Amino acid sequence: MTELLVATTNQGKFAEVHAFLKSLPLTILSLKSLGSWPAVVEDGATFEENALKKARSLAEYSGMLTLADDSGLEVDALNGAPGIYSARYAGEEGNDDKNNEKLLRELHGVAEGKHSARFVCALALCAPESHGMKEWTVRESCEGRIAFDLRGQNGFGYDPLFFYPPFSKTFGEIDRETKATVSHRGKALKKLAGILPSLVDLEAKP
Ligand code: IMP
Repeated sequence: MTELLVATTNQGKFAEVHAFLKSLPLTILSLKSLGSWPAVVEDGATFEENALKKARSLAEYSGMLTLADDSGLEVDALNGAPGIYSARYAGEEGNDDKNNEKLLRELHGVAEGKHSARFVCALALCAPESHGMKEWTVRESCEGRIAFDLRGQNGFGYDPLFFYPPFSKTFGEIDRETKATVSHRGKALKKLAGILPSLVDLEAKP
């Protein structure tokens, strides 16, 4: 069966990818299955560029069909920040808690009506040399607004601060399956799952 390497060390992202693609005739592997892998510097100017850079580099290294995600949060009142810098918003030594604290600080004094934001996800799929060297990208987003305090224990990253109006809850307050039906990554994965069999020759699942 065709192997698909998911180029992430983020367990939350890997679980979301796995849930969407598990019905396809693919053996889905995480980076950890490689043991070691080259570091990729995310210095692209867009989510797509960074996702492609990760997918290309890991596909070349592993020889496998490789999927990479680059995602982040765009806050309108902050001119789109943290954007492609979402993971390291509070600095290279930062973490989710510090990023969320910084976001609340930056929005201090900004009226609720100006808290609009969106999660963006770009997925890049790269077939290495042995599979004909091809690349594809898919982008989706999810509109919401930044809450005034952290709510919920679910998810990762900015989920406890991302209020999704149709559910009247933050992504931290909903389960993974519900989030995947509306999220940036869920929508991008759904699109990719729909076109993947026509992009890559997949053998039938036994
Ligand atoms: P990446 O690993 O370079 O794509 O970094 C993405 C960063 O954006 C993560 O570290 C999170 O901070 C944030 N992010 C992306 N997607 C989500 C999500 O679904 N929920 C919460 N935060 C997210």
